[in-house]
Amino acid sequence: MPGPLLCIGGVDPSGGAGLVADVRAARAVGADVLTVVAALTAQNSRQVVAVRKVPSGWVLKQIEALEKETTFAAIKTGLIADRATIADIARWYRRSRIAPLVVDPVMIAGDGTELLGAAARRALARQLVPLAALVTPNRLEAEILTGAPVEESRSSRERAARMIAHQGAAGVLLKGGHFRGDPRDLLWDARRGTMTWLPGFPRRTGRWHGLGCHLASAVAARLALGDSLIHAVSTARRLLERGMREGRVTRSGRKVPSWRRSP
Ligand code: PLP
Repeated sequence: MPGPLLCIGGVDPSGGAGLVADVRAARAVGADVLTVVAALTAQNSRQVVAVRKVPSGWVLKQIEALEKETTFAAIKTGLIADRATIADIARWYRRSRIAPLVVDPVMIAGDGTELLGAAARRALARQLVPLAALVTPNRLEAEILTGAPVEESRSSRERAARMIAHQGAAGVLLKGGHFRGDPRDLLWDARRGTMTWLPGFPRRTGRWHGLGCHLASAVAARLALGDSLIHAVSTARRLLERGMREGRVTRSGRKVPSWRRSP
């Protein structure tokens, strides 16, 4: 059995996004998973009420404690609320580079709440994204990372993916859910030089919570199990599609995917 996936991210007490979602997705695709808390939130599926960073140095303390008895097979980062913690994680990863890193560049919640200030966004773009085997931005996050609008056209989206890889990431999954016309996801594998438009993803009707977290951790979990990038992404998308089909609507009207273990 390969080592576990390490998820570093925020706690969403509703479980729709953040570390609880990471654990659900990783277990559903068959990987073991450990979690390090990098931010606290008070929220439900509809609204983020508050975000707090964790005390300085706390993320490294958690990682170092785990490292004494575990070798991670992949690492995934989600919400990290402050610049200093992002810098700590980047420094640690540069030293160890033990396993592929998936960076979900979480910056703005579905309800529009800014989860990261300007300094933290810059740190994420400059320090963590360049280390990633895969970055998984949505449209808005891609615009923030590239500093330019990303239009609906295929060429604009392909250009954005290449620009993010130019910042150092080996792969970019530009998610299509926030584009109006063509909701396909785009995978740019800079190592192989392959651009893949991923067909067949259902139109994302309704207002979903936590899809990005689920997708990124399912991909990271498949990488932990030894999949190639394209295979990890395809498998994760297939399982997320099933999770969406079987999803539920919360009392405040948001949809969240449900996961069950693969048969
Ligand atoms: N809260 C946490 C802890 C997250 O990690 C994320 C997204 O990754 C969100 C909230 C935002 O989720 P959504 O944009 O789906 O509402």
